[in-house]
Amino acid sequence: MRDAAPTTIFLKDYTPFGFIIDGVELTFRLAPKATRVLSRIKFRPNPDATDKRFFLHGESLTRISAAIDGKSADVRDVDGGIEADVPDAPFVWEAEVEINPQDNTALEGLYMSNGMYCTQCEAEGFRKITYYPDRPDVMAAFEVTIEGNEKVLLSNGNPLSQSQGFAKWQDPWPKPAYLFALVAGDLLNHPGTFTTKSGRQVDLNIWVRPGDENKCAFGMQALKDSMKWDEDVYGREYDLDLFNIVAVDDFNMGAMENKGLNVFNSSCVLASPETSTDGNFERIEAIIAHEYFHNWTGNRITCRDWFQLCLKEGLTVYRDQQFTADLRSAPVARISNVLALRGRQFPEDQGPLSHPVRPKSFQEINNFYTATVYEKGAEVIGMLKTLVGDAAYSKAVDLYFDRHDGDAATIEDWLQVFEDSTGRDLGQFKRWYSHSGTPRLTVREEYDGDTFTLHLSQSTAPTPGQDEKLPQVIPVAVGLLSPNGDEVMATQILELTEAEQSFRFEGHATRPIPSILRDFSAPVILEQDIDKTRRAFLLAHDTDPFNRWEAGRMLARESLLASITTGAAPDAAYLEGLGAVLRDDTLDAAYRALMLGQPTQSELAGLLHEAGITPDPEAIHTASEDLRNAKAAAFGDLLPVLYQDNQIDGPYSPDADGSGKRSLANAALSLISRTDGGALAAEQYAKADNMTLQLAALSCLLDAGAGKEQLAAFEQQWHGDRLVMDKWFSLQIMQAKPDQVAEVTTRLTQHPDFDMKNPNRFRAVMGALSMHHAGFHHKSGAAYALLAEWLIKLDPVNPQTTARMCSAFQTWKRYDPARQTMMSAELDRIANTKDLSRDTNEMITRIRSA
Ligand SMILES: [Zn+2]
Repeated sequence: MRDAAPTTIFLKDYTPFGFIIDGVELTFRLAPKATRVLSRIKFRPNPDATDKRFFLHGESLTRISAAIDGKSADVRDVDGGIEADVPDAPFVWEAEVEINPQDNTALEGLYMSNGMYCTQCEAEGFRKITYYPDRPDVMAAFEVTIEGNEKVLLSNGNPLSQSQGFAKWQDPWPKPAYLFALVAGDLLNHPGTFTTKSGRQVDLNIWVRPGDENKCAFGMQALKDSMKWDEDVYGREYDLDLFNIVAVDDFNMGAMENKGLNVFNSSCVLASPETSTDGNFERIEAIIAHEYFHNWTGNRITCRDWFQLCLKEGLTVYRDQQFTADLRSAPVARISNVLALRGRQFPEDQGPLSHPVRPKSFQEINNFYTATVYEKGAEVIGMLKTLVGDAAYSKAVDLYFDRHDGDAATIEDWLQVFEDSTGRDLGQFKRWYSHSGTPRLTVREEYDGDTFTLHLSQSTAPTPGQDEKLPQVIPVAVGLLSPNGDEVMATQILELTEAEQSFRFEGHATRPIPSILRDFSAPVILEQDIDKTRRAFLLAHDTDPFNRWEAGRMLARESLLASITTGAAPDAAYLEGLGAVLRDDTLDAAYRALMLGQPTQSELAGLLHEAGITPDPEAIHTASEDLRNAKAAAFGDLLPVLYQDNQIDGPYSPDADGSGKRSLANAALSLISRTDGGALAAEQYAKADNMTLQLAALSCLLDAGAGKEQLAAFEQQWHGDRLVMDKWFSLQIMQAKPDQVAEVTTRLTQHPDFDMKNPNRFRAVMGALSMHHAGFHHKSGAAYALLAEWLIKLDPVNPQTTARMCSAFQTWKRYDPARQTMMSAELDRIANTKDLSRDTNEMITRIRSA
């Protein structure tokens, strides 16, 4: 069955559900093609509701029976579900439906992955399991019975009874249906325990398919670290006797925070030194923390409606970022977060998909699990903390937990606890939730021999549906340095609330040098008319690690933009300043590795577009390559030293120190490979005993035009490991020359291990295609056509993944008329596909409206 005509849902139209649920009992009789789901739900009229219509969501369900208070119910099928006449008093609803998990390739609701049953209900998957008010503000306690032949039968909460082929679970905490989960399969567990601060023992398990049990130890430790951190930092204790995590191979998202039974994409939980890179380990640690933290921010306090998604996601991303900063290097974590924000959220906010952190309308909520809701949503929490201070933040969050535990809450509720506990008016701050677009912060300096003045102004370009915007509250962290590099004023927070405002600093006998937007104190674009000398000074002296890195980044950016637009050679001042930083071994290795990086090609395309210049992907590619070659030449003596000094003797450990050293050694290797033809990389490949070193060496070899033999050996070694093979697929596309990207991708789609039904594999291939800037935008248009062809093929199978990947086309208006015409034709081809899903239709419509 395909979707009905699209309807738009508006935030302003919210009304409460007409009934309250006093208990849910579900029975699952599992069978791959014909699972029976029996529901028994106690309803009573909601005195606060005006709409008394009894409507239950239901999609792709075969109804066997339906009854109210034991009598067969007269059920009417309506768009998206059913309606029935019910008594104006408490009553019991009972239904039996049949569903087909085997054929559920959309991976929403109950489906099968490698012979195991699993569920994904957020946002609106539960309606594919049984009839239910599938909305987050309807919360209930669930009791779940599972009958099946599988060895392991799991659901939310605590086990009530278990025997062969049977299990009964009870979740005492009321929850919305999107947090429901069921897993059944022949699984093995990696067990652990955690004792909470009040002395309760909690059993922990990571459940995996046989063969993966040796990849769980790291995830288990990350879970324990997360539980401890949430007690120490937020005072939040776990609230059940059991916490289960299950690894699933076919999964649309990264992971899902179902109460007491988190379901993870296996790529986000399984790890071993031989098969996972340092980046994988760090990501797994952060995602396990994120899903665990949802137990309080998301589950105990959930969202009233899906417009409030950022209430749980922005806050929980902010919490997992704090956790990573505490466990690892805070400056490195901050720079990584900003790179992600600029890489994914800024382009979204500058194009046709721009939307506020809290959208006002949607057709398909799955399309709003975006970088804006998640990453910009986290930045908004960070700004709030900066504005009120650490102590007031903690007090307000405590009040939030006290006041709203058990609630389905709103952004208004969240802001109210800050207003009540600090006395501060957050009316203007709230615009961060309703304005789309990235504000520009412009700085002008003035000095009169004593007083140094910063003139700050803000503006935000028009975005879809929002032409004019009122000024926002922007916390601007500023420090002042003396010309000899000493800090003469430690970081202060300036609150910019007007369109233009001036801030004076008196008593400066010499003109100070400002360091502005320290630690990236707000998600804005900083415009500062300063010269290279100033940037080089900040690169050498800024005491704020973020801004020191940013100074180098800006020099690299300006060097690249000059090369692209005027053919200028790479900037010598940048290379000299960078060399000094790289030689400074008081700086940690991970930080220096980040310093060695440079803006991505798509970031450069975005900057050119903003400056009114049509980006030429070939010129951008050439300039980027030239700068890397210039680094390889300029640091010819230094790079082998960095490589050598950061080799590690002894066993592999994915900790911050070890992974930092490997990241610097590998960054050096990638430049060395530009001059030695891959000789050192071949050496590293041959002796590598962990995936970080093996994959980096292979990547350098391919980049150097070598590595054929190693590529084949890699496939031979890892063909049985799906997660490692995803890397093998991606790498070949990422390292292909721009004119070969489409051809390499096509060849890989013909490989027997390419399976479009597996979202990880599809993303490994098509994601790499769309992220190779010069390859995707190659003038032949071959990559555009290839991606469109596969999106059209995937849409009937998995609309959610298809819709998300359409965003590869979101920047189409940036480019020259020839490329625009080609991309527009592909967008039309997708739009005109028969029976296009609601998910994909909404995305294509929004992208085409640019
Ligand atoms: Zn989340």
